[in-house]
Amino acid sequence: MTAQGPVATPAAGDCGPVLKERGQREVFCGLTGIIWMHRKMQDAFFLVVGSRTCAHLLQSAAGVMIFAEPRFATAIMEERDLAGLADANEELDRIVDQLLARRPEIKTLFLVGSCPSEVIKLDLAKAAQRLSVKHGGAVRILNYSGSGIETTFTEGEDACLAALVPEMPIPPAGAPANLLVVGALPDIVEDQFRRLFDAIGIAPVGFLPERAVADLPAVGPDTRYLLAQPFLGATGQALDERGAQRIDALFPFGIEGTSDWLSAAAEAFGIDRAHVEAVLAPYRQRGETALAHHRERLAGRTIFFMPDSQLELPLARFLSREMGMVLTEVGTPFLHARHMAQELAALPAGVTISEGQDVDRQLDRVRAVRADLTVCGLGLANPLEAEGLSTKWAIELVFSPIHGFDQAGDLAELFARPLRRRDMLRI
Ligand code: SF4
Repeated sequence: MTAQGPVATPAAGDCGPVLKERGQREVFCGLTGIIWMHRKMQDAFFLVVGSRTCAHLLQSAAGVMIFAEPRFATAIMEERDLAGLADANEELDRIVDQLLARRPEIKTLFLVGSCPSEVIKLDLAKAAQRLSVKHGGAVRILNYSGSGIETTFTEGEDACLAALVPEMPIPPAGAPANLLVVGALPDIVEDQFRRLFDAIGIAPVGFLPERAVADLPAVGPDTRYLLAQPFLGATGQALDERGAQRIDALFPFGIEGTSDWLSAAAEAFGIDRAHVEAVLAPYRQRGETALAHHRERLAGRTIFFMPDSQLELPLARFLSREMGMVLTEVGTPFLHARHMAQELAALPAGVTISEGQDVDRQLDRVRAVRADLTVCGLGLANPLEAEGLSTKWAIELVFSPIHGFDQAGDLAELFARPLRRRDMLRI
C-alpha cells in the first residue's frame, strides 16, 4: 500500500481535529474474532474457508487454549481447487456434510470468508443458501467475511453479528418494549449485567450473541439496543434497518462508563433516576475501591494508543478521567462519528486522535513521544520493548473480561502491570 500524507478533519467532540492516515497497516485480520466468539456461542461452529495461512493464524491465536472439540476449523482451498469453481464448491459441500454428520450439536454454522484469491472467487453467500436448503431446518448456515483485505481485528465480530441480525425474529404483536445488549461478552460479564438490569427493573433483556444462538432474541421498532462494544458499526446499522433504536451512552468501561451505560438504558425505559442510583451505589463503591489501588501507579503516566481494536477511545477516556493518565495520542482504525460522539466529547481537550494507520509515521511519533506505556499489536510490541518502551498488547484487552463495575479494577490492572514491571526493573 502507498503511504499518503495525513489529513486533519474536525472531530465530533471538542478534542480537536482528527488525524486521518492511510498507509501500511499492522493489524490482525477479522478471523481473529473467531477465537472469542466460538467460546461464547456454544451451539455455533465457524468454518473458515481459507488457506494454510488462515489455519495457522487460528491455531496460533487459539494455541493457549485447549479444547477437546474446538468449535472452529479451516476448510483449506488450495491451488488444486482452482482447476474449476465447481470442484471447489463440491469440496466445500463435502466438508460441510462431513462436519454436520460428525457434530450434530451444531445449530448455526458460519462459513467465514478469507482473502486468498481462490476463496474470493467462491460465492459463500450462495454456498450458505445452497447448503441451508440441503441441510434444511436442522442447522442455520450463514456467511460473513473475516478477510484481511476487508476486515481488521474486531471487524470480524461486527460482520458475524450483522449476519445474525436478519435471523432475529420479529416480536409478537403487543409485546412489550425490549432491551438488546449487543456485542460478545464473557459469560461472567453477561450474568452480572443481567442481574443489574433485573435490579434496575428493565425486562425483557436479550443479548446478541447469547450462549445459544439457536434462540435469537426478537428485534423490532420497540427494541432499544445498547452497544457493549465500540466496533459494531455494521451490526448497529442492520439493527437500525430493523427499526430498533440505539441508546446513546458511554461504553461500559470503568465506573463512569458503566454507570452512564446503565443509566441511559434505565432512562430509555422510563425508570426513576433515584432508584437507579440507589441500585448502582454499592457497585460503584466497590469498583471505586478497586480503582483507588491502581490510581497511584497510573496517575500522571503517559500513554500512546496505536490503532488496533477500536476499543481505544473508550479506554483512553477511562484511563484519563478515572485513572489520571495523560493521553499523548489515541489511534483508532475507524472512527464511527455517531457511536463515538459521547466518548469524543469526554476526552480531554487537545488530545491527538488519529484514524486509520500509516504504521511508519505512527512509529515515528511513538519514538518521539516515548510514552510510559504504548498500546499496540503483537508484531510491534517486541521491537518497541527492545527500544526500552513499555507496551501493552491490544489483543489482550479484547480477550479479557473488562466491562462493568466488577471488572474495572482488572481493567486498570492490565495497564498497571507493565508499568509495575518496568518500575521494578529500574529499582
Ligand atoms: Fe491471512 Fe487473509 Fe487468512 Fe487473515 S484471512 S489469515 S489475512 S490469508
